[in-house]
Amino acid sequence: MNTKTCPVCGKPFTVPSLKNARKYCSPECKAEGHRRQARKRSMMQGHASPETWREFAGRPKVMTAADCKRCQTCIYRAKSHGSGLVTCDYLILTGEPRGCDVSETCGRYSPGKDAKR
Ligand code: SF4
Ligand SMILES: [Zn+2]
Repeated sequence: MNTKTCPVCGKPFTVPSLKNARKYCSPECKAEGHRRQARKRSMMQGHASPETWREFAGRPKVMTAADCKRCQTCIYRAKSHGSGLVTCDYLILTGEPRGCDVSETCGRYSPGKDAKR
């Protein structure tokens, strides 16, 4: 008997030999492991959402122009560039860095859009 460590849950489990191909401790962890692999693959191919990137990188969710209520009526907010992503285009449109995070207190806010998009 040999011990391996499950890459999903971190628990040790035993296999008859180290050559045994089993990687996961349980069918549940195997399924989750395969899901993670699939997500990683799609990310490598550039198909992942920003949410998946953050999850993969272990980052907390940050506010984007898609979430911020105030950005919705700001002239610098754009649903942009064929990707369907909602962004703050302050830098692109003015050539100047925004100088703050996307947030309800953004100092560059300039009202002028209705909130539909
Ligand atoms: S300039 Fe500020 S308020 Fe306007 S879209 Fe960008 S982050 Fe939002
Ligand atoms: Zn496991």
